[in-house]
Amino acid sequence: GATIGILGGGQLGRMLSVAASRLGYKTHIFEPGANPPAGEVANAVTTASYEDADALRAFAASVDVITYEFENIPTAALDILESQKPIRPNREALRISQDRLTEKAFLQELGLKTAPFADVTNADDMAKAVAEIGAPSILKTRRFGYDGKGQARLKTTADADAALADMAGAPALLEGFVDFSHEVSVIAARGIDGQVACFDPGENVHKDGILATTTVPARLSAGQRMDAVLLAANILNKLDYVGVMGVELFVTKDGLIVNEVAPRVHNSGHWTQNGCAVDQFEQHIRAVTGLPLGDGQRHSDVVMENLIGDDMDQLPALLTERDTAVHLYGKAETKPGRKMGHVNRIKRD
Ligand code: ATP
Ligand code: MG
Ligand code: MG
Repeated sequence: GATIGILGGGQLGRMLSVAASRLGYKTHIFEPGANPPAGEVANAVTTASYEDADALRAFAASVDVITYEFENIPTAALDILESQKPIRPNREALRISQDRLTEKAFLQELGLKTAPFADVTNADDMAKAVAEIGAPSILKTRRFGYDGKGQARLKTTADADAALADMAGAPALLEGFVDFSHEVSVIAARGIDGQVACFDPGENVHKDGILATTTVPARLSAGQRMDAVLLAANILNKLDYVGVMGVELFVTKDGLIVNEVAPRVHNSGHWTQNGCAVDQFEQHIRAVTGLPLGDGQRHSDVVMENLIGDDMDQLPALLTERDTAVHLYGKAETKPGRKMGHVNRIKRD
């Protein structure tokens, strides 16, 4: 069978590898860090930096198609890889989602609603941005933020200086605080032939900036559910996207507001492992290898709960809970804030 190259060896790469293996594919992980969670289940691992051109060339030579589990891959590395093998999802999806400013501009061009935002690189910009956006608001680094890292909240405009200092000179974006009732996400997939399939939107609860739970079905009207799925399909089509994407949305009384997109499988899609015949990981592998997509139908209601840091203390109890699937990432060391695994609780009446 063909070999799929995966950039990034975290839990997403691990679960992609398992799904690929089930479909008869081999996987090769490229990861700078030692002992990556995906390494144990992949057929091959390259431990090298993204600056190592020889390692990148050898990696590309050993695979048939290249995909990724995170969006911050250096451009020069992508240039080398792309000269040898197809990268799916494509470079445009990465370019847009690597930078919150580019991302928001793209979404607005599509006619989608976002939080009001202003570009901030220095104190002058910040003063202008605060005058325009006001407070409450959130200052976010344009690049490299995840799990709420690289963000500073402004309760009042008096917090502006402290927030700017938090960015440590990194280019940032000031976002108006969206008055949402709840958060949902759409996990959408698009095949090489342009076919689009969406999973049911899930409702997300964050704790300390990190996803805590996803519940399906989400609290949405039929109209909102339709809007969510259509806007996700719109984004994928516009990008000529191939693979799975996570689209994070705020539900407000004025409709759906797009928070951000992730050009990859997404933590809020882990429920699909126990709620659907074809989960997001298999769906992504199907998409990037040109197989027909699963239809995204949900056979069970599910609550996904992340196991973060000390949550692992609950493991013995979780293992005896009925209708509860436990997924662990094989990470050696438990740390506060580190995602160690998740459980999917299947709901039946
Ligand atoms: P992820 O791990 O999802 O990539 P991230 O670090 O990129 O997270 P965001 O998704 O931008 O961060 O923000 C994290 C959370 O903070 C959101 O899910 C939401 O709860 C809250 N948040 C972010 N931006 C806003 C906003 N403009 N208004 C209100 N709440 C917000
Ligand atoms: Mg993000
Ligand atoms: Mg987010």
